[in-house]
Amino acid sequence: MAEGHGGGGGGAAAGIRVEAESSSGKSGGSNGGGMSPEDCVKGILSAANHPKVRFLLGEMEKAGCPVWGHFIKGATCPTAGDYRSGGGIRVCCNNIRFQDEITQVIIHELIHAYDDCVTKNMNWNNCAHHACSEIRANHLSGDCHYKRELLRGFMKIRGHEQDCVKRRALMSLKNNPNCSEASAKDAVEAIWNICYNDTRPFDRAP
Ligand SMILES: [Zn+2]
Repeated sequence: MAEGHGGGGGGAAAGIRVEAESSSGKSGGSNGGGMSPEDCVKGILSAANHPKVRFLLGEMEKAGCPVWGHFIKGATCPTAGDYRSGGGIRVCCNNIRFQDEITQVIIHELIHAYDDCVTKNMNWNNCAHHACSEIRANHLSGDCHYKRELLRGFMKIRGHEQDCVKRRALMSLKNNPNCSEASAKDAVEAIWNICYNDTRPFDRAP
């Protein structure tokens, strides 16, 4: 994956502009049960005011990677959202139903963007690098908070949060062609303690 978060640009980090990906192709509003592009853009703008999102954007700027105008976009894409180095964050509106999901996706992807900014020689093709960022994103975003887990039908038991982080990290790694199932598992185990306990830029895990 291309490196690409140089200094240039100098866009105002304050105002995030959001646009929905032009819905080429399919006519009509069949959005597969997801949000309409309009609601999704509204949701992204509202998520941009979430304290955690604002905090992460501020930390990106401090770390020398201010986000540009269209850093976060609404799009039609196969997952809930993604981050690409140099390409910003896509919220997959077609797979999203609630405001809370938008906010979660953005927080999760911002942690990847932060890692991309502060990790020297970040290589998304490297299974261990990617795994570390997934552990952090799933842990620090609160994706595995017990209330969200209850909604997914998983019971809260002791140690469950860590199981959840592992499960979701492995799920995300499936999209990386350089991470076979076995190497993804090995990578997650090998780096678990370091990456799970690395709560930057937060003082502690949520
Ligand atoms: Zn992720």
